Amino acid sequence: MIRAKKSLGQNFLIDKQILEKIVNCVEIKNKTVLEIGPGTGNLTKYILNKNPKKLTVIEKDNILAINLKRLFNTKINIINNDILNIDEKLLFNEKITVFGNLPYNISTEILSKWIINLKNDFWFENLVLMFQKEVADRIIANYNNSNYGRLSILANWKLIIKKICDIKPNSFMPKPKIDSSLLFFTPRKDFYKINNPKNLEKITRVFFSNRRKMIKKPFNQIFNGDPRILEKINIDLNLRPQNLNFETYYKLTEEYENL
Ligand code: SAH
Repeated sequence: MIRAKKSLGQNFLIDKQILEKIVNCVEIKNKTVLEIGPGTGNLTKYILNKNPKKLTVIEKDNILAINLKRLFNTKINIINNDILNIDEKLLFNEKITVFGNLPYNISTEILSKWIINLKNDFWFENLVLMFQKEVADRIIANYNNSNYGRLSILANWKLIIKKICDIKPNSFMPKPKIDSSLLFFTPRKDFYKINNPKNLEKITRVFFSNRRKMIKKPFNQIFNGDPRILEKINIDLNLRPQNLNFETYYKLTEEYENL
């Protein structure tokens, strides 16, 4: 009997309908697939049923990794490591589909890491990832929405994002305290060219430092009130940070890089 470890965010998916929905998000027959945080292999089974060309899994927990070896043997390639230590680009020589029901904090961290490290070299075709619902709402939010913010602007920069469904706690064992959402990502081929993602993070950090205040202050702080930039980007300094659309933030970053 496997005891779930809280420290590794282990909430295993047991809802067959949801498991089926996850693997039906995208065609994986004859495709190379990566599953992160396979746990007891519940989703792994469903992925294998779809006949991928190759399935690699990355699981941090030693005991679960041994158990997966016993369950699936040579049907899957098991990497017993922390996903945060892995350079996914080096593992595969073709574009892959990634599935992951990871601990919530790791999902967000890994998504940010992947976005920041991507140049034009998309190493995946699709990502199917589980998030805490509240975080998923922030990732998919559009401007003028109260959830719109730094995470939405970063994620939308390089990815096209779709929500597949919300998932209730009783689909998991043990039950988490919060609702979850499943998100589907595909690469945005024509993303805005920014030289250094750190600059986008800086611009959004400064602009969103106070959601309720007008953007006059952050604008002046970064651009010294330069009227030429104001005219070029065409923004109204009486707006709040959540009223500026995605493109405006990418343009502001571009101007910042040209200072
Ligand atoms: N995907 C499975 C398990 C979800 S629980 C299911 O849906 O049933 C989350 C899994 O991620 C656990 O197996 C946990 O051990 C693993 N995990 C946690 N942190 C990890 C990390 N940093 N790298 C890889 N796996 C991790």
